[in-house]
Amino acid sequence: MQIIVFLGAPGAGKGTAAVRIAEKLPAKHISTGAMLREAVKNGTPAGLAAKSYMDAGSLVPDSVLIDMIGELLTASTPDSVFLFDGFPRNESQAAALDELAVKFNAEVGPAVCIDVCEELLLKRLGGRRVCPACGAGFHVLSLPPKVEGVCDVCQAKLITRADDQPETIKHRLEVYEEQTAPLIEWYKKAGKLRMVDGSGDADAVADAIMEVIR
Ligand SMILES: [Zn+2]
Repeated sequence: MQIIVFLGAPGAGKGTAAVRIAEKLPAKHISTGAMLREAVKNGTPAGLAAKSYMDAGSLVPDSVLIDMIGELLTASTPDSVFLFDGFPRNESQAAALDELAVKFNAEVGPAVCIDVCEELLLKRLGGRRVCPACGAGFHVLSLPPKVEGVCDVCQAKLITRADDQPETIKHRLEVYEEQTAPLIEWYKKAGKLRMVDGSGDADAVADAIMEVIR
């Protein structure tokens, strides 16, 4: 078993790249959110535990997430390749994943870090615009409206959601820097880190990742 880990700031394009690489390798793409929903739906022991936290409005603790990954590995064949997107998120999760891997005779790595400068992250994350009248969505970089700031469908003035305001985005990037960026050092020390330039389009990023994974 092999567990490939994807690292990168919000807006770096981890999810998009993970879907493409999972198809190319092939590997099973595991995003934390999808894994949680699946385990809850299937009513596995870890899924039930997670549900009790979610129902109470609390965060699902790391120990439950690790149990869930354990269930996933238990149900998989020894030749499985996984691509983890969104886990680990901090050093203690990385340590727990390493321990679990030993138990299952699985190899963790490579850890692919998709690197994007802060300026571009801010543009990508802050570029979403929505129409308050008809709900149409736009993006200043990837899906710009025909007239700047105006809805193509109903000509209403577009707005930026609270989640996409610069203050909120700055906070998300700070949380990443504090908790997840140390993982780059963690995997570097283990000799597993592969840095990839994430500033290009999705095809270019996927090609660059395939290069370093091979
Ligand atoms: Zn509209």
